[in-house]
Amino acid sequence: MSKPEIRKDYFKDDYVIIAPNRAKRPFEVKAATTIETGKICHFCPENFHGETITYQDNGYNGEWEIVSVINKFAALTPTNVSAYGQTEVIIETRRHGMDINDFSIDHIVRVINAYIDRYTALKSMDGIKHVIIFKNEGGKAGASVTHTHSQVYALPILPIKIENEARAFGKYRLEHTTCPYCDIIALESERPRVIWQDENLFVLSPYASDSPYGAWLIPKRHIRLISELTHSEKESIGKAMRIVLGTLDKYGIAYNYFIENAVYDEDYHMHIKIAPRPNTWAGLELGTGVIINPISPEYAARIYRDHVLIRDDPRF
Ligand SMILES: [Zn+2]
Ligand SMILES: [Zn+2]
Repeated sequence: MSKPEIRKDYFKDDYVIIAPNRAKRPFEVKAATTIETGKICHFCPENFHGETITYQDNGYNGEWEIVSVINKFAALTPTNVSAYGQTEVIIETRRHGMDINDFSIDHIVRVINAYIDRYTALKSMDGIKHVIIFKNEGGKAGASVTHTHSQVYALPILPIKIENEARAFGKYRLEHTTCPYCDIIALESERPRVIWQDENLFVLSPYASDSPYGAWLIPKRHIRLISELTHSEKESIGKAMRIVLGTLDKYGIAYNYFIENAVYDEDYHMHIKIAPRPNTWAGLELGTGVIINPISPEYAARIYRDHVLIRDDPRF
């Protein structure tokens, strides 16, 4: 495509403007500003004291490799009735300077197991309505510590964005009797937005992507929660993360990812949304919620596919 297009989400009333004439090629995207300050890193083992550990994976030689700790500086705490909740930081490795895409598949599976443990535990806390797991990677995406980590927020409210997604999912279910994410897999499987897939997982750059190089990781099995993933499905997520996040890392593009689970354990199709942040939102985006995405999803998928070297596949 060369002319800009207004596109609507597959099943939600969200619109984006895909305007590839403004596209920058990935190597022209300014690398995320480095935010290493030279101060000591509190996630490194030598400085890691007095933390309240809620999960510990003693990886390879008996020392902790992955831990979840209660965030001491959190906005939400279980003791504050005015801002009730819990937030934890999952430190994904004891080694400073590694990114998740540098991990082995086995190590990524271990990180997913930490997510599952904390998601399940916090979801059952009294007064908690929603638990969100996310990662901020790179200065522009909001990370303030470069030692790779994820965050878990247990919220006493159901955020409107999550509620809207659940409502749109339910409406689609009623109208079509099928699941929108199962349908997206079927609809997109031969189209130019496919990034990668195997027997367990479908990875695409969505038709109305609201972020440049946006990617969704959707399990092929219709499962509601991250805790329902099989070991083999977790390995597939590890492979996909290495492809997608490895490409973003190569070009210095900051990103967030979110794990979207069912609300109140109702029917849903869990998935992971990767949202790179190579540009800064301006007036239109903040004022209307309408996003201008300068990278077409078709182009983004091609960039990712080049990374996995399937460019000679005749379907593309
Ligand atoms: Zn560190
Ligand atoms: Zn489904």
